[in-house]
Amino acid sequence: MLMQYLLEKVLLRGLEEKIRKAQRVFLFLDYDGTLTSIQNTPDLALLSSSTRRTLQSLSSLPQMILTVISGRTLSEIQKLIGLDNVNYVGNHGLEMKVKSHKYVINQHKKIRKKISLFCQRIKRKTHWFSGVLVENKGLSASIHYRLAKEDCVPELKKIVSATIYPFKRSYELRDGKKVLEIRPKTKRNKGWAVNEIIHRYNSKRKTYSLYFYLGDDLTDEDAFQLVNSKRGYSIRVDKRKEPSNAHHYLKGPKEVRLFLGWFKRILTQKERRKP
Ligand SMILES: [Mg+2]
Repeated sequence: MLMQYLLEKVLLRGLEEKIRKAQRVFLFLDYDGTLTSIQNTPDLALLSSSTRRTLQSLSSLPQMILTVISGRTLSEIQKLIGLDNVNYVGNHGLEMKVKSHKYVINQHKKIRKKISLFCQRIKRKTHWFSGVLVENKGLSASIHYRLAKEDCVPELKKIVSATIYPFKRSYELRDGKKVLEIRPKTKRNKGWAVNEIIHRYNSKRKTYSLYFYLGDDLTDEDAFQLVNSKRGYSIRVDKRKEPSNAHHYLKGPKEVRLFLGWFKRILTQKERRKP
């Protein structure tokens, strides 16, 4: 399916109509590459204060259910956003905070131990590579190689997959944007998390709800699919038009900010119009 550009005027006009009618709006936002641009190292990707203000006003609107969903740890993503009225999903769904309640995957202690072991082993075997960053994220591990030389990447991949090979029944390796991720094998992913959150809000009453998911990476594909099944808006944040489950696209985090600003205006106008 051909992706449609979200900021097309005709499309926005139709969307505006729907947003005005909606009793509930679920907005799911990925962090890296969506709310902020991808940086050489993850600690450089900080949220701008204007985006934070926009998110704050959005989250305070009664019909809005705002969730930030990330591959980072739950505590890290909470700290980076720093807003109370927001749900958070960390580690691609392995841990989350919804309506102020925390949920963590079963056997998390065992998983943390194993992940820490993997990290030690990989660090030991890759310390002579420059530009490789092994990040222990508690319930998962990320091996970043954005700063590494292209020709050492195959060797790095070999080392990482050999490390988890003896545990391949319970752990898996995934490819991201210049990052390898080790995770416990589970049905949990960003799509699973989105579904969980929707269930925790939707009562049996017929409520007219709208769903939006914005993300830039392969790990967002499951969530795009889930949102599509709810007739929601799956929006991929990327200039390149690679095949994706998303039905819409924005060209980068700058356009995400434009879109969020537009969204806020529509919803606050709606608030004012109420008798
Ligand atoms: Mg991302």
